Amino acid sequence: MALMTAKEYVDSLRKLKTRVYMFGEKIDNWVDHPMIRPSINCVAMTYSLALDPRYEDLMTATSNLTGHKINRFTHLHQSTDDLVKKVKMQRLMGQKTASCFQRCVGLDAFNAVYSTTFEVDEKYGTHYHENLKKFLIYVQDNDLTVDGAMTDPKGDRSKAPHEQADPDLYLHVVERRPDGIVVCGAKAHQTGSINSHWHLFMPTISMKEADRDWAVSFACPSDVDGMYMIYGRQSCDTRKLEDGCGIDLGNARFGGQEALVVLDHVFIPNEYIFLNGEYEFAGMMVERFAGYHRQSYGGCKVGVGDVIIGAAALAAEYNGVEKASHIKDKLIEMTHLNETLYSCGVACSCEGCATKAGNYQIDLLLANVCKQNVTRFPYEIVRLAEDIAGGLMVTMPSEKDFSSDTVVGRNGETIGEICNKFFAAREGVSTEDRQRIMRFIENICLGAAAVGYRTESLHGAGSPQAQRIMISRQSNMQEKKELAKNIADIK
Ligand code: SF4
Ligand code: FE
Repeated sequence: MALMTAKEYVDSLRKLKTRVYMFGEKIDNWVDHPMIRPSINCVAMTYSLALDPRYEDLMTATSNLTGHKINRFTHLHQSTDDLVKKVKMQRLMGQKTASCFQRCVGLDAFNAVYSTTFEVDEKYGTHYHENLKKFLIYVQDNDLTVDGAMTDPKGDRSKAPHEQADPDLYLHVVERRPDGIVVCGAKAHQTGSINSHWHLFMPTISMKEADRDWAVSFACPSDVDGMYMIYGRQSCDTRKLEDGCGIDLGNARFGGQEALVVLDHVFIPNEYIFLNGEYEFAGMMVERFAGYHRQSYGGCKVGVGDVIIGAAALAAEYNGVEKASHIKDKLIEMTHLNETLYSCGVACSCEGCATKAGNYQIDLLLANVCKQNVTRFPYEIVRLAEDIAGGLMVTMPSEKDFSSDTVVGRNGETIGEICNKFFAAREGVSTEDRQRIMRFIENICLGAAAVGYRTESLHGAGSPQAQRIMISRQSNMQEKKELAKNIADIK
């Protein structure tokens, strides 16, 4: 089958029986739900750009498994060039949506599980790698969106999976049958879960022998029997449910999505299992997935950064301060920070190398440095954007006020007229445009999109401390000491 169009993707979601809950109720038509649809539009963009000849080189690739032309979001990286193109594709997607577009978690999972299963099979003679290859060919040929699912709820963080008071706090095998396994548990903060056709589950931490039943990786359709999702709230999310508040949304078309994904005795046939008790490989899978996803942030957050820098520059123009030297300097600083993140994303890609399985992996140290910078720089970019925008981004009356006919003034002025009078921008700029850019900045800095741009920059792909542990492990301190000893003539 050829690449799907955006419309075909949205229609394909309608055929799924995915169980979605929000505000304590089941949502049947979740595809058209106003709080969910912007996140579907984001994933749909991964389909429409792949069919746009201008972006073909970035958005598509040739499958090493079939030789077919596929969406790059389903590709196994075959070179450092592929790794760089991935980052560029993500920057482009961030520029087009100013949101988290979700499909990367599956891409990162494919690549991590592909190389790990190869090494598991090598040691144990299992068939996980073949299972994954068959699954991937199906995904690529049908141009599916797959959610990479890693983060368990984790309960008491001081305890291993098998020590938890409730064993379900980490996803685990509860029954082994000749034809497959039955699993129970959940994955939290699952980006794009509802918008995905399938899920690819992985363990979330390194494990020891006692955690054998928790060392499990597999794929299943998103509407498999026993699986359901509870939608995560975002700041200001119910603005999407209000009529006549399009401008107040800041970004009416696009958004991210996270949910709690629960697996309640889900049966997984053998052919979709990629790890089943080989606990010593759990850490490898986690480390590789995290590495890829930390690279990803050097692309997606940079694309969103491009949009927010542009928005801050427009806000300055609308306020008539674009020539002030401190404004110019703040925009330079934002650009410097944003391009530093991009440099890290590109660098860890260029320094990548082939895995034993043949697909390419990023440089782990540089990917972790990339993500560590992402835990900081977007916060500074947001601070500068708020500085330039001014307080109006959080104090402005609603869109309904701006269009209200209710008389409020002594001379019969309406609320709308009063708002337009007092929130007028510089000459030649409409009040509405100023309103729009303020709300847009609000959306990214502390509204619904702040989930993706701020807090996800901190905690997504692992919280800051997780990268510091990896940086410490990869830093090769002994070699650095030898360098110093050598030049200082220390024997
Ligand atoms: Fe992709 Fe970035 Fe969202 Fe992760 S946070 S899924 S890398 S857009
Ligand atoms: Fe993420």
